[in-house]
Amino acid sequence: MQVDPGTLTVPAPVPTSESAPFWRSCAEERFILQHCDSCGRWIFYPRALCPFCWSSELTWLDASGTGVVRSFSVIHKPGHPAWTAAAPYTVAVITLTEGPTMLTTLIDIAPDAVSIGMPVEIAFTPVGEFTLPFFRPQSAQKSKQEVPR
Ligand SMILES: [Zn+2]
Repeated sequence: MQVDPGTLTVPAPVPTSESAPFWRSCAEERFILQHCDSCGRWIFYPRALCPFCWSSELTWLDASGTGVVRSFSVIHKPGHPAWTAAAPYTVAVITLTEGPTMLTTLIDIAPDAVSIGMPVEIAFTPVGEFTLPFFRPQSAQKSKQEVPR
């Protein structure tokens, strides 16, 4: 990303009753995910029912904030003009260490240096009035971290 994302004026996320805890946590630079008390699986995106067993017994728990790049795309012409100053930048689908996948923006790496399977970690980034859960290449000491329970 060629600019400080904090200088961008872009459309903000619209928290729902299900996602509000996630966005509040991001503002505190704390990465949380929903965990199903019934079947034990981790869930993202935020929702009211477990997509695996339909239980409503979901609990927000601290998550590792680590994962690997599953897929990515370099954005040269953003879908919204407010992101134009940031192009080219990389959006990626991350397979989180806990299992779910998450669409995010990669920072601190040139688009042509990104690769599938690359370990990444959370990089909370102020953008407008929100703190967004971007990711960056994982630092060496984090690469051995295990899934928290
Ligand atoms: Zn479940």
